[in-house]
Amino acid sequence: MRQSNLLATTLREAPAEAETVNHQLLLRAGYIRQLAAGIYTYLPLGRRVLRKIEAIVREEMDAAGAQEMLMPSMQPAELWKASERYEVYGKELMKLNDRHDREFVLGPTHEEVITSLMRGEVSSYRKLPVTVYQIGTKFRDERRPRSGLMRGREFLMKDAYSFDTGWEGLDDTYSRMYKAYQRIFERCGLVYRAVQADAGAIGGEGETHEFMAISGIGEDTIAVCSACDYAANLEQAEVHTGAEAVQRNVSNLPAAEKFHTPGIRTVEQLEQELRIAPEQVIKTLIYQGGGQVFAVLVRGDHEVNEVKVRNYIGASEIALADSGTVRAAASVESGFVGPVGLSLTLLADRAVAAMTSGITGAGERDFHLRDVVPGRDFTLEHVADFRTAEEGGTCPVCGEGVLHFEQGIEIGHIFKLGTKYSEKLGATVLDAAGQSNPVIMGCYGIGISRLMAAVAEQNSDGQGLIWPAALAPYRVHILQMSVQDEVQTAAAEALYEQLSKLGVETLLDDRDERAGVKFKDSALMGIPVAIVVGKAAAGGKVEYLDRRSDSKEVIDITEAVSRVT
Ligand code: ATP
Ligand code: MG
Ligand code: MG
Ligand code: MG
Repeated sequence: MRQSNLLATTLREAPAEAETVNHQLLLRAGYIRQLAAGIYTYLPLGRRVLRKIEAIVREEMDAAGAQEMLMPSMQPAELWKASERYEVYGKELMKLNDRHDREFVLGPTHEEVITSLMRGEVSSYRKLPVTVYQIGTKFRDERRPRSGLMRGREFLMKDAYSFDTGWEGLDDTYSRMYKAYQRIFERCGLVYRAVQADAGAIGGEGETHEFMAISGIGEDTIAVCSACDYAANLEQAEVHTGAEAVQRNVSNLPAAEKFHTPGIRTVEQLEQELRIAPEQVIKTLIYQGGGQVFAVLVRGDHEVNEVKVRNYIGASEIALADSGTVRAAASVESGFVGPVGLSLTLLADRAVAAMTSGITGAGERDFHLRDVVPGRDFTLEHVADFRTAEEGGTCPVCGEGVLHFEQGIEIGHIFKLGTKYSEKLGATVLDAAGQSNPVIMGCYGIGISRLMAAVAEQNSDGQGLIWPAALAPYRVHILQMSVQDEVQTAAAEALYEQLSKLGVETLLDDRDERAGVKFKDSALMGIPVAIVVGKAAAGGKVEYLDRRSDSKEVIDITEAVSRVT
C-alpha cells in the first residue's frame, strides 16, 4: 500500500475525552474514529488489525472443531421474553420496532437465536456434539461506554455455542475451548490470565472462566495466589459463612416500609422503588424473591452511581457496583444453600453484602423493604466473621499462598451453561433409549474489538503503538526520505515491489513530507519494522529500525529483505 493513498490521518493530539493510552493512540494513529458515544468506524489500518485477530480466532476455532456460521443481529423480542432475559438485560438491550410495529432487539449475544435454531436442526443425540461460532457485531446500550473500543455500544465479538448430550461431553468441549483461548491470546501477544469468574447475565449452572488482559486500566480486580493456580475475579472470590451472621433486631422495623412488587424488576425500576438516590449516604436493599431473601447493604460517603441487578430472580443474584473510588461491589451468588446458609462476596471494606433469611420481616415472596437503616433496624456486628479476599490475605484454596490483586480487562469469557436455555426454549434431543432430554450447552465469547484495544494498551511507548508482528496492519514500513530523489525512488519502489511479491505486507511512505514527519508517523502507527531509504540508498544501504527495541542499524538492502522474509 502506498501511504499517499492511504486513508489514515495522524493527529498530533488526542481529543480530550480519550483518557486511556489505547484510545488516544488508536485515534491519533488513524486506526479508528468515533461516530457517536461507544460507536466507532474502523479506518483501513484498524480494519487490518481486526482481520488479523479474526484470522487467528478462526484458525483456533476451526482447529478446535467449531464450525463458522453467521446469525442475524435483528432478533424478535419474543425470543428474549421466552428466555426471560428481556427484563434481565433491561436498558442494555437495544430495541426497535418494524413497520408492522413488531418488536425486535439488536442482539447483545446470541444464546436465544442459536438455541431456537438448534431446536429445529438437531433432534437426535447422534448429531451431537456440535460447536458453532460466528464473528459479528453486538449491540449493548452500555450505561457508560468508555475507553474507545474497550466498552463500545456496537462492538465485534466472536461467540461460540456448544451442544452436548451430557455434562462429560460439555467438560471435554469446555476444556478444548479453554485451550483454544490460551492459544489465541498467546498468538495475539497478550499478557493475560484465566480466572474463575461470575456468570453475570449469561447465567448457567456450571463453571465459568474469564480471560483477563492484565492492565492498570482494567475494570476488574483479580485475586491471584502466590502458591497455587488459584486466580479469581473478585466478583466471584467466594466468602462463605454460617447462619450466625444473621442479625436479629430487624424483627421490629419501625420506619421501614414493606411493599409488594411482584415480578422481575429492571435496574431502573428497582432504583425507583427502593428510592436509591445517588446522594444517599447509606444504601440498603432487602429483597425477597424466588423463595429466598437477600439483604444487600452498601455503605459509604461516596456516590453509588451504578446499580447492577442481574438475574434478579432466576439466579438469586444481586450485584451492586460503584465505579468511584471505593470500587464497592457486592455480588450475592447463586450458590445459595438454603434458608440459613449464606454465600456472598465482599469487594471493598466499605461494602457489605449479606444474604439472609427470615430476618427482614418481608418474609414473603415478591415483597421488598425500603428505607431500612442499618444500625437502627439491625446491626452488622457479625459481618466481621465474613472471610473476604484481601490483598496479602491467605489463599482460600491452598491455605498457604498469599493473595495479590491485579487489574484486568475481560477479553474472553467461557461458560458451562447446562440446560438454562435449552429448557426454556425447548431444545431437546432423543437419547439412545428414545428419551427426550434438553441439550447441555456451553458458550464462549471473545471481544474482538476490545482485544484490539487491550493489545494496544499493553504495547506502546511514548512515541506510539508497537504492534506484535501477528497483529500489525503491515509488517514493514518503507520510509522514503525524499520523494524528489530519483535514486531513492528507484530503490524504494524496487524494495516495495520485491517485498510485496514475497508476500510481506508493506506500507510505502511515498508522501511528499519531511523526514521528521515520516519518522513520527511511523512510530505512532507502530508497524514492527521500518526500512529507511535515504542517502545511503545510492550505496545499496538502508537503515533498519526495529520498533519494539527502538534499535537502528545501517545494512545492505538485500540483508533487510532477508530479515523480513
Ligand atoms: P463486561 O463485564 O466488560 O461488561 P460482559 O461480562 O458483559 O463484559 P460477556 O457477556 O461475557 O461480557 O461477553 C463476552 C465478551 O465480549 C467479553 O468477555 C468482552 O471481551 C466482550 N465485551 C462485552 N461487552 C463489551 C463492550 N461493551 N465492548 C466491547 N467488548 C465487549
Ligand atoms: Mg457487560
Ligand atoms: Mg463481565
Ligand atoms: Mg463476561
